[in-house]
Amino acid sequence: MAEHALLSASGAGRWLSCPSSARLEEAVEEGESEYAREGSFAHSLAELYLAYYLDLIKKSKFNKRLKELRQNSFYSQELDDYVKVYVDFAMEKINEAKARTKDAVVLLEAKLDYSSWVPEGFGTGDLVLVTDDVLEVIDFKFGQGIPVSAVDNPQMRLYALGALNQFGCLYDINTACMTIVQPRLDSISTHEMTIDDLMHWANSTVKETAEKAFKGEGDFNPGEHCRFCRVRSTCRARAEENMKLACYDFKQPPLLTDDEIVEVLDAADEYMKWISDVQSYALDQAVNNGKQWPGYKLVEGRSYRKYVDEAKVAKALISAGYSEDVIYEKVLLGITKMEKAVGKKQFNELLAGLVEKPPGKVKLAPDADKRPAIKSTAEIDFKEEL
Ligand code: SF4
Repeated sequence: MAEHALLSASGAGRWLSCPSSARLEEAVEEGESEYAREGSFAHSLAELYLAYYLDLIKKSKFNKRLKELRQNSFYSQELDDYVKVYVDFAMEKINEAKARTKDAVVLLEAKLDYSSWVPEGFGTGDLVLVTDDVLEVIDFKFGQGIPVSAVDNPQMRLYALGALNQFGCLYDINTACMTIVQPRLDSISTHEMTIDDLMHWANSTVKETAEKAFKGEGDFNPGEHCRFCRVRSTCRARAEENMKLACYDFKQPPLLTDDEIVEVLDAADEYMKWISDVQSYALDQAVNNGKQWPGYKLVEGRSYRKYVDEAKVAKALISAGYSEDVIYEKVLLGITKMEKAVGKKQFNELLAGLVEKPPGKVKLAPDADKRPAIKSTAEIDFKEEL
């Protein structure tokens, strides 16, 4: 497993907001998820393509390694297509950098040391480009949850600091350019800042908080950053914050006011995530560690009938005289499976105009949500009546 810093760049959003989380998390082991393993595999494939295109490895070695990676259970044409979106973008950036500065530095999977600001801090940058004037850090994310923005992104800034630490004295760098490529979400987010602003952030925002976090000092501060915290299920600060809603002292009159409903809406997402984290934790402890929770027992959930052996079922029915038309139904693969089966490029070419995206189910979202507001049914009816 890859080496990780206590104050990792990927966890910076969390330990900068909640400095005490770093040491609290340290004692909790969490296995690598299937998504994380798939992401690591996609990174290996991207690194291989880039190493070959940059002449860092010979064709024979490339072919041998590619053959090995294609045997991996995570490999699919769809994954390969997504990886190539990142690889093409990376090659474009590399060529631009070389056109700007002949001896531009190009680093793949570079260990970036930002320990001048964060005790023992280091991380791995997928692609680092150093030219006269500009330092570029490019991060490949294979996730398909939510698009991650490069704007004010502490992970990217720490990578940029690590690169600056290494190359700042060799090149006259004035700008840091940070990009996150998320091909599965069609998202490329770029943010630029001056080196002066980056240094100001490092010295005024990061240094002191990182020192506290390293010592296990500082405040607990629950928020959205709890989502990937290893103690998210058992953290007292998070529980207390969420229990405030349960203990909310709703006053008279008997019906909630609009303001009170908005207060519940504001807290609802975090509250439901927290409840779900606690339930998953309690179940996992009971099933895998024999934990007995007072007043609770393990039971079997609802289950559905299923065939023991589909081939034998078909054989029995056909022998009894039923035709295949009766016992089988032909079903077209769903969009995700079809895209995976034929590859994204072919899918887009062959099925242009044959795939639509109907409007999603209407839901309430905070004003800060990036999606545009839509009209309510009442507003539409009102306009039609005019
Ligand atoms: S769950 Fe949230 S509040 Fe608790 S330690 Fe983790 S980040 Fe901090």
